[in-house]
Amino acid sequence: MSQFYICYPEGKFKALTFSYDDGRIEDRRLVEIFNRNGLKATFHLNSGLFGVPRPGEERIDPTEISTLYQGHEVACHTYTHPTIERCPLDKVALEVLEDRKFLESYTHAPVQGLSYPNGSYTAEIKKLLPALGIEYSRVVGSSHNFGLPKDWYQWQATCHHNQRLMEHGVEFSKLFKSQYLYLMYVWGHSFEFTRDNNWAVLEEFADLMGQQQDVWFCTNIEFKKYMTAAHQVIFTMDGTAALNPSAYDIWMRVDQTVHCLKPGLNDLSQTAQKEN
Ligand SMILES: [Zn+2]
Repeated sequence: MSQFYICYPEGKFKALTFSYDDGRIEDRRLVEIFNRNGLKATFHLNSGLFGVPRPGEERIDPTEISTLYQGHEVACHTYTHPTIERCPLDKVALEVLEDRKFLESYTHAPVQGLSYPNGSYTAEIKKLLPALGIEYSRVVGSSHNFGLPKDWYQWQATCHHNQRLMEHGVEFSKLFKSQYLYLMYVWGHSFEFTRDNNWAVLEEFADLMGQQQDVWFCTNIEFKKYMTAAHQVIFTMDGTAALNPSAYDIWMRVDQTVHCLKPGLNDLSQTAQKEN
């Protein structure tokens, strides 16, 4: 009997994503580094804080959203950045929906990612989010491993960029056991690089990662949507055909052959892509 494995795009088994909060002007330098190395990231923004002067906190202008973050993900971080576990639930809903509405007026596409402001959430808030169109939410704290999220509404990163980033990066680059899927997820705030005078840490990491041909570089929402779609693929019992009900190309490995499954019904004798 054949073995059927979900793969990342192009048959890969390693993925890398980033999550940066608050939309401060240092995002400009951060995006430039990501773009130069072909990396992809998610930027969690607070719509209600644009143009609100705060000492030492300079934010990007909303008119930059569609250009600065092009190719990356624009995501919610609530409208005003409250500690939401202290807020009435309907106000939490408003904080998320107003943020979505404002950001979408610039992205012209659904904004469905979230990171919890101040890392704050409750079980009730997690239950509320799907009804608000939110697909995932990132918590603070780090797992220091390359596992996949078990709960999309309590998604923990591998590490903050100040937590042994290069050590984790080197370990990640050496992973070779393709019977597992791995995800490296780095989070932080761009202003921290300036505050801590350590942009060099990210430059070094981005340079190393940009050279990894076997890593899928994705935003948070791309990862979530791809994995959700991949789990919806169903093969016939004999493995000769597969229905992909999603709108995405999904990559699957059947024994040693990687197949790209197009949306709809696939005849596997027609889809063989490459030997793994
Ligand atoms: Zn924040």
